[in-house]
Amino acid sequence: TTAEAHQDLTDGFHLVIDALKLNGVKTIYGVPGIPITDFGRMAQAEGIRVISFRHEQHAGNAAAIAGFLTKKPGICLTVSAPGFLNGLTALANATTNCFPMILISGSSEREIVDLQQGDYEEMDQLAIAKPLCKAAFRILHAQDIGIGVARAIRAAVSGRPGGVYLDLPAKLFSQVMTADAGAQSLVKVIDPAPAQIPSPDAVKRALDVLKSAKRPLIILGKGAAYAQADDAIRALVEKSGIPFLPMSMAKGLLPDTHPQCAGAARSTVLKDSDVVMLIGARLNWLLSHGKGKAWGDAPKKFIQIDIEPKEMDSNVEIAAPVVGDIGSCVAGLLEGIDGKWTMPPAEWTNAVKAKKDDNIAKMAPKLMKNSAPMDFYGALGALRTVIKERPDAILVNEGANTLDLARGVIDMYKPRKRLDVGTWGVMGIGMGFAVAAAIETGKPVLAVEGDSAFGFSGMEIETICRYKLPVCIVVFNNNGIYRGTDVNTAGSDPATTVFVKDSRYDMMMEAFGGVGVHATTPDELKRAVDKAMDSGVPTLINAAIDPTAGSESGRIGNLNPQSVVKKK
Ligand code: ADP
Ligand code: MG
Repeated sequence: TTAEAHQDLTDGFHLVIDALKLNGVKTIYGVPGIPITDFGRMAQAEGIRVISFRHEQHAGNAAAIAGFLTKKPGICLTVSAPGFLNGLTALANATTNCFPMILISGSSEREIVDLQQGDYEEMDQLAIAKPLCKAAFRILHAQDIGIGVARAIRAAVSGRPGGVYLDLPAKLFSQVMTADAGAQSLVKVIDPAPAQIPSPDAVKRALDVLKSAKRPLIILGKGAAYAQADDAIRALVEKSGIPFLPMSMAKGLLPDTHPQCAGAARSTVLKDSDVVMLIGARLNWLLSHGKGKAWGDAPKKFIQIDIEPKEMDSNVEIAAPVVGDIGSCVAGLLEGIDGKWTMPPAEWTNAVKAKKDDNIAKMAPKLMKNSAPMDFYGALGALRTVIKERPDAILVNEGANTLDLARGVIDMYKPRKRLDVGTWGVMGIGMGFAVAAAIETGKPVLAVEGDSAFGFSGMEIETICRYKLPVCIVVFNNNGIYRGTDVNTAGSDPATTVFVKDSRYDMMMEAFGGVGVHATTPDELKRAVDKAMDSGVPTLINAAIDPTAGSESGRIGNLNPQSVVKKK
């Protein structure tokens, strides 16, 4: 009968779902629409968790950070042309940050797109995605779905992780195969991110350079956090006795309160160190390219551990490149340190400690100020205590002053608990990261957001309320970008950097059934965050910050070009 015949068939929809499930994909982040609406429904029916966002960029950011947290590619699903382009920002950002993700977009019919005959949402998506990600593939035939999905997964997580684009034309979904042939065409990726063992010579060279140091320093980057080699990294740091400096998303890999942490003596250790070992950190703008004023005049030797050989010598000479995965490289170094190791000179470690204690003591009174309106330090002092009391919570952080000051003030205690603007310093990651952090880890999330930064993804608070996620958002509301006090002297329009004065972002949350709180003092703020984290109810706290408190572009105001033309 026809019914029996149908039972033996499968189609593109189900083959994609089965291929993802076979490879352990449990969650898809996306926005439904033509041609992937039914795909989302079917995936949900087949047991995949499908999280629907309000805008693709945030679904893409969620997928990207899911990749960082799990070492498996996060999946983002979008419609064609505009939806694809919205997701592309997140894909490019993921690639820049070395987060594994796959952007799957439906697309229009090849025959029409290639002849530019004007299809619904016509766009040559594959060509556009290619330069912005690590790899890009298109699947045209149902029998290639298994291999196509396998290629995308392997490309995303092997070597240096990154973003992959997978183009699925609408027609593919309705193509039919027999169920048996379909099942046989699927591919389970074996060992998707193979270990990459460093050469023994490279390890020996690195150890020799390290042993020659009088003032050594280890810099931990988010690659080290991603690698999930937490115990080995801790052992390397502790057995070597070398002070370490965590980059922003590597904070907590070892606690910021660890005696060897040099976070509070950053400028001193960059200037005065003589040998610097980079572990999963790049010498890009965030480290002043490894040269210039920030690094002082003393000659320096760099050791760099990275999975990407091309990263070596990207900005300065690397005296000892160690190419391999961080787990294997650190294990190799540990072998060399066990037994025959001399601790770094006490003169150096004491100098670092003195500088650090001094800076921490200077900061302390600023964090205790319980005034209204709040300044950044007073408010952050309260949040710092929250994370100290709840070290398992995930901190999402974006903004200018809100980012730069929170990074310094809020100590982290456990690996992969701080998620922020990353390599580009991009605004808009907040709510996407918060959603995925809650879903992937099941832990409470505290999102500390500048009022401007929050605006880029603010509509996703509906998503947070809809899925009842344990997310507490604190908006640092200082009435604008950098500050809320700029004045336009040339006309009646508001200055370009100011927002509606005394906005009540908390009331937005109430519109979707979440809890909204307006907090004017650090005590009120702390109480409201504690309540939110205890209850797990989606909450937004509007923290009223003194509008005069911020500075231009936070700590990176020097990157603003200066006009040479004098104002008349
Ligand atoms: P940060 O911004 O924290 O300094 P970066 O993103 O600049 O960190 O650097 C991360 C580095 O880590 C990248 O160069 C990337 O190639 C590397 N990396 C990522 N995962 C691994 C891994 N598993 N093993 C080795 N290196 C890795
Ligand atoms: Mg602001």
